[in-house]
Order: sequence, then structure tokens, then C-alpha cells
Amino acid sequence: VPHSPALAFLGNSLDRCANHRTDQEWLGRLLKQPSTRHIHMNGDRTVIVDEKLQTFQQANSAEMVLLGVDGNGHGWFASSTASEENLLDLRSLAVAGVLPPGELAILAQARSLLHWHARHGFCANCGAQTEMRDAGYRRHCGACATEHFPRTDPVIIIAVRRGSRMLLGRQSAWPEGMYSTLAGFMEPGETIEEAARREVFEEAGVRVGEIKFHSNQPWPFPSSLMIGLIGEALTDDIVIDPKELETARWFEEAEVRSMLEGKHVQGLKTPLPMAIAHHLIRACLRANPGEVD
Ligand SMILES: [Zn+2]
Repeated sequence: VPHSPALAFLGNSLDRCANHRTDQEWLGRLLKQPSTRHIHMNGDRTVIVDEKLQTFQQANSAEMVLLGVDGNGHGWFASSTASEENLLDLRSLAVAGVLPPGELAILAQARSLLHWHARHGFCANCGAQTEMRDAGYRRHCGACATEHFPRTDPVIIIAVRRGSRMLLGRQSAWPEGMYSTLAGFMEPGETIEEAARREVFEEAGVRVGEIKFHSNQPWPFPSSLMIGLIGEALTDDIVIDPKELETARWFEEAEVRSMLEGKHVQGLKTPLPMAIAHHLIRACLRANPGEVD
């Protein structure tokens, strides 16, 4: 199995400066500095020229969010644009791997925040218009005084194994031949383990016992946190939920390895290294005794 490149959207090195977000004087000074950089986003796309992230001296709209301050003391802000020029989406950027990982992570932060603001212009409690506060980390309803905070949606994603086999499934919307680990949104009142066991049973009818945390990944489509797990199955029989999955089955280790290497005889494949599923699948192989990396 070849060396696996890093997960996408990790390594954001900005100081988010949470203590300064309410300090209008501090924000004003930062905005006036000529070194301050503004990212313009149109949905999940941003401006890329010659494989480089383009930043600007001005925000594109009155509502801008503070991303943070970099190691050189330069402020980073993001705002939405309607421009269609030189745009590339975050998925394509992650797959292409042309941007420094830290920049991709900053773009993920920008995309999730701006997406939330674009959909929370009105108070969920009383319906009145809300205003951005705290440099983009709060919206305030002047009518009923409710405070609204940007959301992150936790998603469990789990590689389930049983001895030398691994449970992988596919959704009909995925590229042909692609199989991956099972995943689903956590529900209110659940622990991570409870959510994982529920999802695997709902989607594939398999009972899971022991679960270990492996890694996690911000996933800005639009604002998820992927919580990567490895679980040990207690049962073999698979009963898929056709609303969730097109199919699911157990894969022997050798077959999974051929999929990771892109050498599967029927062209079956796993997700790319930009996604956490790839690394969960790989970790399951490594954990097997006798494995030579
Ligand atoms: Zn309100």
C-alpha cells in the first residue's frame, strides 16, 4: 500500500483571536492594515489563479467574518461574492492538492461560516432580521434578544471489521465502483458510540461492539465534523436499508488492499486520501497481525 497523503482541511494555523472579536477598535485597526487579506467565496468556490489562492485588499460585502491572524500578524477575513471569475470548488482543490494544506483548512473555516450566515439572516425564534456580531461568530436578534451561534454538525464515520474482513457499502449516487465506510449524522442526546452503533445497524443490520476513536476531520459541505471510528462487529448478516445504501458487503483484506492500490480486477475503489474514510480503511489493514507495510 503506497504512502497516503494527508487528509484535507486540517492544519489551520490561524490564531482565531476569539478574545478580540468583540473589540471594535482592534478589528478596525486590523482592517486598516494594508497586509490584511480578504478571501472571497461564492458558495464552496473561491478565487484561484495559477493554482494559487487569490486574496484581496477589500471585503466583497458589508458582512465579513474574521478568520484569524497568521504568524506574520496579518489578518484574514472572508466575505461572499457573486462573481463567477476564476472560481474553483473546495472538493476539486482538495483532490488537486495544489494549495498548502493550511490554506485549504482556512478556506474550510471560511466556507462553513459564510454558509451559516447566508442562511441565518432571520431569527429562528421570532422571525425578525438578525445582525452579525463578534466578527462573525454570533448573530443577534434585536427583536427578541436571542443569540444565534454558528453550528458544526457532528457526523460519525466508522470502519467496521470482523476478523480479517471489513464492512463497506455504497450509495447509488457515488461514482461507479466506489465503496466506503458507513457514516451518519449524530442525533440529539446520543454519545458518539451510540450514534455509530445505531447507524451501522440501521444501514447494514450489523451489530457493533467495541469502538475506538481514530481521527477526525472538518468537512465543509457545509459544516460537518467527521468523527472517524473503528468498530468490531458482533454479527455477520447484512440487511441494508435501501433508502441509505445501494449495497453493502464484507470485503477480505486482500481485496481492500487492491482497491486502495487501484488494482482491483473489477475496478472497485475506495475514497481518495483527502477523505477520512480512506484513512480509516487503511488503518484497519495495518491493525491486522502479520501486515507488512
Ligand atoms: Zn428573535
